[in-house]
Amino acid sequence: MGSYAKATMTGFICRLCSEYKKSVIHFYSAKAQELELLKKLTLLPITIDKYDNLPKTICQDCIEKLNLQYRLVDRIRKSFEIQQRHRLFHSNGRCPLECPLYGTNSYDSSDTSLQQSE
Ligand SMILES: [Zn+2]
Ligand SMILES: [Zn+2]
Repeated sequence: MGSYAKATMTGFICRLCSEYKKSVIHFYSAKAQELELLKKLTLLPITIDKYDNLPKTICQDCIEKLNLQYRLVDRIRKSFEIQQRHRLFHSNGRCPLECPLYGTNSYDSSDTSLQQSE
C-alpha cells in the first residue's frame, strides 16, 4: 500500500485541467504568443503570474476550449458594440447604410415609444 507512484509522470501538468499531458504549450513560449494564450487566459477566473509556483503549461484540449471561449466572448463584445452604435446614432429611425444593422428592419419595429420632434 502507498506505493502507487503514477507511472506516467513524464508529461507536464496542465494548469487548467490539472492532467498530465504529453503535448503542452508553455505560457511564455513563442507558440503561446502566436496563439495569444495569455490574452485569452485573462477571460478565465484565474490569474497567472510568471513567478507563481503553479504550472505554466496548457494542454491542447484546454487550448481548444479556450479558443472557443475567446471567440464567444469576442462575438458577444462585437455584437454589443454594434447594438450600442445602432442605438446611439439612430435609435428612432431607419438604419443608414453604414449601420451594421442596416437591412435588419425588424430590429426596432416594435418600438413605438419614441416620439419624433420634427
Ligand atoms: Zn488541460
Ligand atoms: Zn442602425
